[in-house]
Amino acid sequence: MMYAFVTGGSRGIGRAVCRKLASMGYCVVVNYVSNDTQAQSTQTMIEAEGGRAELLKFDVSDRSASAEAIAAWHRAHPGEYISVLVNNAGIRRDNLMMWMPGDDWDQVLNISLGGFFNVTQPLLKNMLSKKHGRIINVVSLSGVSGMAGQTNYSAAKGAVIAATKALAKECARKNVTVNAIAPGFIATEMTADLDQAELKKHIPAGRFGTAEEVAELAGFLASDGAGYITGEVISINGGIYM
Ligand code: NAP
Repeated sequence: MMYAFVTGGSRGIGRAVCRKLASMGYCVVVNYVSNDTQAQSTQTMIEAEGGRAELLKFDVSDRSASAEAIAAWHRAHPGEYISVLVNNAGIRRDNLMMWMPGDDWDQVLNISLGGFFNVTQPLLKNMLSKKHGRIINVVSLSGVSGMAGQTNYSAAKGAVIAATKALAKECARKNVTVNAIAPGFIATEMTADLDQAELKKHIPAGRFGTAEEVAELAGFLASDGAGYITGEVISINGGIYM
């Protein structure tokens, strides 16, 4: 069985990525932190589509919880390994820097950047020893260009972009690719509070993207056909360049 692991797979972009990878034949390990109902919906959708999914609830910002959950998965699946990892879990806590509480800085960094390390590090060894792996990091336009009101989020995503490039160089000879996807505005719960009508005016495509459009790109990067692409940051943003 081929296994893929998606952090933050209960909703939004993560759910669409889970469904895409399941349609490609992967048994998908769906990570999430709190929303049991939504996570179960992701699993039900995948099974209704003829795929396989398992739920693995833990907080990616908690290093020991991440290590324990991943170790438990390996104990329950002797001889198996996860060949595709999508680091997608993330949150926004927007504020101007001068008003930003320290906790909002820490939480955003700990989930996006800390989570990248906490989950990737324990899964990487098997990918390297099997000489096959795909690591896909969901970052953001905000981490490419910087966005006012998002110093924490831009810092977290920008750091993951730099880590993507560094890790790609470490792993390329072992046939493990590491790439980042940088979405612009995608219609999910994360962007539900934004003024779509106003923001659409600044998007050349004239609309928000869909989670499924992001999932198509993740599916391609996970595929054998993308084996020579590594260390890249691929934007998917309807034409916004800042
Ligand atoms: P979303 O709808 O808010 O979903 C967030 C997901 O992350 C949920 O599955 C949530 O699990 C999970 N999560 C949050 N904190 C977690 C933690 N500590 N440990 C494990 N899982 C955690 O967000 P989205 O819009 O799909 O965004 C997905 C990714 O794309 C994020 O990294 C985000 O920064 C990035 N992104 C989004 C956009 C956009 O416009 N939507 C644009 C650029 C980048 P629960 O359901 O259990 O809470």
